[in-house]
Amino acid sequence: MAAVPTVTGSIDSADLGRVLAHEHIFVVGEEYRQNYQSDWDEDAKVADAVTQLSELKGLGIDTILDPTVIGLGRYLPRVQRVAEQIDLNVVVATGVYTYNEIPFQFHYTGPGLLFDVPEPLTELFVKDLTEGIADTGVRAGFLKCAIEEQGLTPGVERVMRAVAQAHVQTGAPITVHTNPHTESGLVTQQVLAEEGADLTKVVIGHSGDSTDVDYLCKVADAGSLLGMDRFGLDVLLPFEDRIATVLELLRRGYAERMVLAHDASCFIDWFDQEAKRQVVPRWNYRHISQDVLPALLEGGASEADIDTMLVDNPRRYFE
Ligand SMILES: [Zn+2]
Repeated sequence: MAAVPTVTGSIDSADLGRVLAHEHIFVVGEEYRQNYQSDWDEDAKVADAVTQLSELKGLGIDTILDPTVIGLGRYLPRVQRVAEQIDLNVVVATGVYTYNEIPFQFHYTGPGLLFDVPEPLTELFVKDLTEGIADTGVRAGFLKCAIEEQGLTPGVERVMRAVAQAHVQTGAPITVHTNPHTESGLVTQQVLAEEGADLTKVVIGHSGDSTDVDYLCKVADAGSLLGMDRFGLDVLLPFEDRIATVLELLRRGYAERMVLAHDASCFIDWFDQEAKRQVVPRWNYRHISQDVLPALLEGGASEADIDTMLVDNPRRYFE
């Protein structure tokens, strides 16, 4: 058992229930919003999120892990307004999301830089995990960074090492946005391990975008969890392929190495909302409960496998 901080208070890891390990609520760049989204209606956005997440709870999901960090528009007061009105646990993260450069707030400040000080990122991450985010009193429950097809750029590497150091100091688990097509899960594991990270506390996110089961087994054999976490993004990999990959991993005995999610959001400002509905109509919180779990069961997965992926693995991730 371990205490897991949620937006509305600490809960026991045994009470997390069924967990979707990678869902956003709002992905909204505040600078962009203030300059270009003149039709933004704060109350309506909060109400819509409450509706969508209440619906998710009604479908049997108890907890979401929301890895919306700096670079994705993390803004806790809006998330708090939602969390206070729903019966679903929300665990938020700290970290930085970049595929390339470090944000300018850190560009000149850090070890060996113009302003030569200890890594400020690590300090901020540890503060979010131990004291709370801004003055909200909400503690982050896990860490997040990213690596894309650009690979281990200096900015990506700096964030990843800072995330690993904050993990070593606090024990908080990590999730990483990776690109499985460039095998960046393996690069991630190497960097995190060099910093002393416990790879069993790491989700190699977006692994489910790949059908390369040999690669996925290699990542899992190093101890990490595979994020089969983009159900609904059929444009990146069709539904049938995502299901077949999970089933094959189950067949090979990897139930304890997978977590499930959609990487969906109530609102994301990256896409036109109507275009998004047309291109990826099933990219919403309901898809796993309504389509994915039935398809897995029909394909030979057992109820125990489902519980392992939705309940036991997320719980162990925090313990
Ligand atoms: Zn995401």
